[in-house]
Amino acid sequence: MQIQDATTSTLALYGGTPSVQQTPKAIFQWPIITEEDEKAALDVIRRGAMSGTDVTERYEAEFAAWQGCRFALAFHNGTAALHAAMFACGVGRGDEVICPTITYWASALPAFSLGATLVFADIDPLSLCITPEEIERRITPRTKAIVVVHYLGHPAPMDAIVPLARKHGIKVIEDFSHAQGGHYKGQKVGTLGDVGATSLMSRKSLVAGEGGMLVCNDRELCDRAIAFGHHNRFTRDLSVATLREFAGLPLGGIKGRMHQVSAAVGRVQLRDYDERCRTIRQAMRFFWDCLDGAPGLRPHQVDESEGSNMAGHYGARAHYVPGELAGLSVTAFCRALRAEGVAAHPGCNKPLHLHPVFRTADLYHDGRPTRLAQATRNVLQEEGRLPVSEGIAERLLSLPWFVRYDEAVITRYAGAFLKVIRNHRDLLADDPGNPPSMGSWGLSSL
Ligand SMILES: *Cc1c(COP(=O)(O)O)cnc(C)c1O
Repeated sequence: MQIQDATTSTLALYGGTPSVQQTPKAIFQWPIITEEDEKAALDVIRRGAMSGTDVTERYEAEFAAWQGCRFALAFHNGTAALHAAMFACGVGRGDEVICPTITYWASALPAFSLGATLVFADIDPLSLCITPEEIERRITPRTKAIVVVHYLGHPAPMDAIVPLARKHGIKVIEDFSHAQGGHYKGQKVGTLGDVGATSLMSRKSLVAGEGGMLVCNDRELCDRAIAFGHHNRFTRDLSVATLREFAGLPLGGIKGRMHQVSAAVGRVQLRDYDERCRTIRQAMRFFWDCLDGAPGLRPHQVDESEGSNMAGHYGARAHYVPGELAGLSVTAFCRALRAEGVAAHPGCNKPLHLHPVFRTADLYHDGRPTRLAQATRNVLQEEGRLPVSEGIAERLLSLPWFVRYDEAVITRYAGAFLKVIRNHRDLLADDPGNPPSMGSWGLSSL
């Protein structure tokens, strides 16, 4: 009832009282750092053990047990873990890697520095994930790996993707940077394919600090990842005979070791993580219950009846349906929300195939774009070729990421959405429309 009353007043954009007058800190404060994290970090610093591997190896063992897989290998960030995952899968000169165009650049860009090229796939407009149909039509004899991203926590349809990849002898790399601990049909995402890689940076739902983790069940893949970026662990007892003679130096020319302050914090964070995710899901569910039946918005949500979930709702978004709000642009909708005190923005990650790095950049002096120079055919994808991804920004907006369950605060935020929805006609007259490009290349900068 309280919500109903608030929604009838004048929009804050036009001089009314904002729905959210004070930003309550705790409900958005992430990561949740306690004395335990501080003590673990201090211990590493006091021992001068920042560059060691004792804490990191314990973290890896705990991570593997939690993930339910044989191997976990820590890196200094998720980008490096993805880079190593691609190398582990044998991605090399002239190979093609299929990747959704709507994702953070680190899902794709490391392929360039392995001599390979990218073929981007479109996404499903509801799940926002790559689809098996999109993958299948882009497979060629040069396809070496598919990067699957469980985008914004939504699991991708692995039960169709994995058999498809097997049929063609292609490796599946899961980038689960948005979905650590999430489930797809009762199974944990990250090790449904051949190898998984995740970011553990401070804005992701699972946090170590700056950090990344590679997970898999195949010793050979794990050992190739060790050889790529862990020179001090790359020894002659590696399982891959052809690599043994190179022991001691990292084949990727990178030093992938995790900073042990990250490992120490990561160990503490992991212990409480599943519980914190449950709280986040409960809070987001309550938010959507408050908005039940409201026109113009739909949850970005997986069907939970089959044992799937949205993990920690990283980068939570709503689908925006302008047709139900007299065609009001998402730009105008978000502007009105911001005036109400809600930090809402249109879009998500921009489509990578439209960025000049994937169109024109000649990174290694080939005399033509790297994307083409490292390909055996014309893989460029012009504007208009991936229509769902190119149009998705005007149908999405960011939501408050409630990391604690507080009905009073969540109700107030939901009230702001209901107020804008109820008064949407007042916004039509000075709707600026959407700019030609929305969203950002890095999600957390939104
Ligand atoms: C954050 C992120 C990465 C990169 O991880 P870093 O730890 O920032 O290097 C990779 N993929 C996705 C989908 C991400 O969101």
